[in-house]
Amino acid sequence: MRRFQPGEEVDYCVVGVGSAGGVLVQRLARAGFRVVGLEAGPFWDTERDWVSDEAGSHELYWTDPRISGGTHPLSFGANNSGRGVGGGSVHWAAFTPRLHPSDFHTYSLDGVGVDWPLSYEDLKPYYELLELEMPVSGPAYFPWGDPHGYPFGPHPMGAIGDILIRGCTKLGIGVSIGGPVAILAGSRGDRPHCIYRGFCIQGCKVGAKQSTLITHVPDAVAHGAEIRDRCMAARINLDREKRVTGVAYFDRDGKEAEQRARAVIVCGYAIETPRLLLNSACPGFESGLANSSDTVGRYLMAQAGNVVLGRFDELVRMYKAPPAHAMTEEFYETDPRRDFARGFAIQTVGPLPIAFAKQMMVAKGAWGWGLRRLLMDYNHWGAIAVLGELLPAADNRVELSDEKDRFGLRIPKITFGLHDNDERLVAYAKNKVMEVMSAAGAEEVVQEARFAHLVGAARMGDDPRSSVTDKFGRTHDIDNLFICDGSVFPTQGSANPGLTIQALAARTADYLIARGDEVFRQGVRVLEAPPIRRDLSPPDTFGHGVPRLT
Ligand SMILES: Cc1cc2nc3c(=O)[nH]c(=O)nc-3n(C[C@H](O)[C@H](O)[C@H](O)COP(=O)(O)OP(=O)(O)OC[C@H]3O[C@@H](n4cnc5c(N)ncnc54)[C@H](O)[C@@H]3O)c2cc1C
Ligand code: SF4
Repeated sequence: MRRFQPGEEVDYCVVGVGSAGGVLVQRLARAGFRVVGLEAGPFWDTERDWVSDEAGSHELYWTDPRISGGTHPLSFGANNSGRGVGGGSVHWAAFTPRLHPSDFHTYSLDGVGVDWPLSYEDLKPYYELLELEMPVSGPAYFPWGDPHGYPFGPHPMGAIGDILIRGCTKLGIGVSIGGPVAILAGSRGDRPHCIYRGFCIQGCKVGAKQSTLITHVPDAVAHGAEIRDRCMAARINLDREKRVTGVAYFDRDGKEAEQRARAVIVCGYAIETPRLLLNSACPGFESGLANSSDTVGRYLMAQAGNVVLGRFDELVRMYKAPPAHAMTEEFYETDPRRDFARGFAIQTVGPLPIAFAKQMMVAKGAWGWGLRRLLMDYNHWGAIAVLGELLPAADNRVELSDEKDRFGLRIPKITFGLHDNDERLVAYAKNKVMEVMSAAGAEEVVQEARFAHLVGAARMGDDPRSSVTDKFGRTHDIDNLFICDGSVFPTQGSANPGLTIQALAARTADYLIARGDEVFRQGVRVLEAPPIRRDLSPPDTFGHGVPRLT
């Protein structure tokens, strides 16, 4: 791997080489920019570091201290960002539905949330591109949102998919099977196909599941990017003209260092991104960088993720097959017959025994021998989940606490609570999924209330008074400071966010590449859509799959 000299200025310093950061460094390096990716966690060696075991994979999560409060405190750790090259894409389940066209205009259509500064049509070519790059396996026809087909064939059903189909079919609810999921249904290049053992959230030692660690970062390195792992960014530095000059960080030995750069792109996830901006407060930016709108840290969102568990007489063995393989989006859009705006999806999940034990503790208050008996019965249980759209609220936010971490950096304090529409949506969605589980033939049905997928907290928008970045991720306040990760979402829909995060990263990269040197100059801000650079895809992207349906 190329190594830049200490003190050498690069074009772009990318903070966080996760889902978005991985795609971004790959594009920028291929386009010939000098790029350094600073990553707090390790550069994983999938053979050496990973195990197909639930307890052995806890290293994959960001487990640094955070303070969580509010009326519905979020849990962190395994319900969280990743730590290490690939970020959350290393431990995601790889469900990859697109947002619906309506998600980009919830305020105009339904009077709730806020409109995005871009439309579905702006992002659609990037959805199609990333679905090829990952690639995504799925049905030939996916009927919801903007109906489309997938270039790679669907996966065979696991027992939990059968349960969802049975329940939905009985109730007359349409259901999609075999994806969309960024897991190989057939081998491709040097990546083998899925072997259906269900350790996807544990990293997928096999390499069948997409992560930017295996699909994008190798190409970035091959094109001259330096990925500096175990380096924790502490502060973004500015000069007297209030232009970003680089990033101060703690290197792998805990020593302070600086990476100078002509522009900085923060890709640290919905908690660490606002934390870094707030921790970088300095004269002229007393309330944090890019925070003239007072929206840095605000409008943090999580999706409702209630898990409904059902016991069946027959063996289910829900661990066999990727957790993500069947879903319905029949309840996705606002329905005036319901007492809430927006909607939810229903998806398969396949908790392994440790996660199952936790769910049973919450759902049934199980403990001691009772919990042990339930665990011995694990193979008879199946789980499906709500994925519901909770609306952005200014008081759901990330702030800095007065406590400090091992680097002496103030740790984040997160406040989260449900509002009226959210409460009504969760109540309806949870009951609907319990109904589906019962219709599938479960003899006992219980549920665990939980939240999934954090986004927001540095949202994009047209108006600098109410948003942090423009539609390409450039902060309104500082011309050479960008944000590119899930934190720029203005609303979140009921689709898992990962595909959209990677698609937005490819779009931001195209913008930076199209604008060239102008990005590094002050006061020039053109917001024209860039040409789509399909030629920058990783090798082996095209010429595979089955013919697309149009
Ligand atoms: C168990 C689980 C399952 C999931 N399943 C799905 C799914 O099926 N489909 C889906 O779409 N989404 C899923 N998600 C969510 C998905 O993983 C995230 O939404 C996505 O990875 C977020 O991308 P990001 O680029 O915003 O951040 P990340 O991918 O988390 O990347 C952030 C990176 O920045 C690094 N970093 C942070 N701060 C610093 C710093 N100060 N200095 C240096 N580096 C830093 C982190 O170490 C990390 O590598 C799942 C999440 C979890 C927890
Ligand atoms: S089930 Fe498939 S995608 Fe999941 S860990 Fe196993 S091989 Fe990887």
